Amino acid sequence: MFKHVNRPCKEIEFNKMIEGLVKFREEYSGKIWLEVFLLGGVNSLKPDIIKIKNHIAKIKPDKIQVNTVARPPAEDYAYRIDLPQLIESCKLFGENAEVIADFLETKHVDKHILTNTRLDKILGDDKVKQVELSDGRILDADMVLIGIGVQPNISLAEFAGIETCKDGIVVDAHMQTSDKNIFACGDCTIKKSFFTGKPTNLKLASIATMESRVAGANLFEIKRKQEGVIGVFSTIVDNTVFAVAGLGEKQACELDYKVVTGEVEASNRHPGKMPGATNIKLKLVFNKSNGELLGGTARGSDSVGEMINTISACIQKKMTANDIAQFQLGTHPAVTASPIAYQLVNAAELAIKKIS
Ligand SMILES: Cc1cc2nc3c(=O)[nH]c(=O)nc-3n(C[C@H](O)[C@H](O)[C@H](O)COP(=O)(O)OP(=O)(O)OC[C@H]3O[C@@H](n4cnc5c(N)ncnc54)[C@H](O)[C@@H]3O)c2cc1C
Repeated sequence: MFKHVNRPCKEIEFNKMIEGLVKFREEYSGKIWLEVFLLGGVNSLKPDIIKIKNHIAKIKPDKIQVNTVARPPAEDYAYRIDLPQLIESCKLFGENAEVIADFLETKHVDKHILTNTRLDKILGDDKVKQVELSDGRILDADMVLIGIGVQPNISLAEFAGIETCKDGIVVDAHMQTSDKNIFACGDCTIKKSFFTGKPTNLKLASIATMESRVAGANLFEIKRKQEGVIGVFSTIVDNTVFAVAGLGEKQACELDYKVVTGEVEASNRHPGKMPGATNIKLKLVFNKSNGELLGGTARGSDSVGEMINTISACIQKKMTANDIAQFQLGTHPAVTASPIAYQLVNAAELAIKKIS
C-alpha cells in the first residue's frame, strides 16, 4: 500500500521510514505535523485507517493532517474520497487530526457541514453578523436561510364544504375526499405515515405524483389504494449524494420498535480501482421482531439516488432481511458493486446475524 500510494525510491522501505520518523520525534522538540494521504479504493477504509493510526501512535506528531486527491491527478486511477468520508476518517485519527484537502473551497462550498447542531440565536443589530449555535459556537454569517415549510391553500375545498383540517384536505387511502365524487392529491392533502398510520408532514413531488396516479385510477371505479407515505429523500452536496428512506434508527426507536441494523461500506465498482469508483456507505434498519425493513440511509455516488428508491420498494413490500439477502441482482464491474460486496445484500446479511 505504501509503495502504491507514495511510489518511493526502492531504498525506502515502509518500516525503515516509520523507524526514522519515530527517532526524529525523539530528537526533535519542535512541532511535527504529519500528513496522511487517503486514496479512494486503496487505503481509505476503516481497517486501513486503524492500521495507519497505530503507526502514527508511535510517531506522536503534534498534528495529523488528513488529505486526499484535490486537484486533477496525474494518474487516472487516483481517486479522492468524498467529504463526509474524509471527515469521518479524520475523526478516527483522533482529536489532533484535521482535514486539509482544499477541493471544497475551489467549488465555493462551505466546508462546515454541521449535524445535530441547532441555530440558537441570530446576532447583529440591523443585519445578521453572527450566529450562535446550540453547541455554544459563534460563527460569522452574511446571510441566514431558514426552511419554515408551507401551508396549503385549501380555501376552495373549504368553500366546497369538503372536510379539511389545519394541514390540508382530508382524504382516504383512495384519495377520496369527504365528498366521494371529489378526489384530492398532492401537498394540499393530509398524509398518513406508512409506519404508524398517523398524520405526517411529508410533502414531496414524488408523493404527489404517486397520489395522483391512485386518484386517477380510482376516478370511475376504486382500483388502487395507497398504504401511507414512507418518506424518501435524496440530495447532493459537492458530488456526494445523501439519501434516506423510511425510519432512521433513532426514529424507529422513538416509535418503540426493537431494531437491528446492518452497516456496510463498499465501492460502487469492482475492482475498486475501476474508473468512477466511489465508496457507498449504507445502513439498513430492521424490525428485530419480524425482520422487516424499516428504513435505510446511504451516501456516495450518483447511484445512491436509485439505491434509496430500491430500499423504499423493499420497505413498501415489507421485505425482511432474509428476503433482501436473497435479492437477485445484476452486477457489472464498470457499473455496480461486486456481487460479493453488494451493499444492500451485505447490510441485510449483517443484520441477520444480529437477529438470530
Ligand atoms: C424548494 C423546494 C424544493 C423541493 N424539492 C423537492 C425534491 O427534490 N423532490 C421532491 O419530491 N419534492 C420536492 N419539493 C416538494 C414538491 O415541490 C412538492 O411536494 C410538489 O410540488 C407538490 O405538488 P402539488 O401538485 O401537490 O402542489 P404544487 O406544486 O404546489 O401545485 C399546486 C398548484 O396549484 C395552484 N393553486 C393553488 N390554489 C389554487 C386555486 N385556488 N386555483 C387554481 N390553482 C391553485 C398553485 O398555484 C400551484 O401551481 C420541493 C419543494 C420546494 C419548495
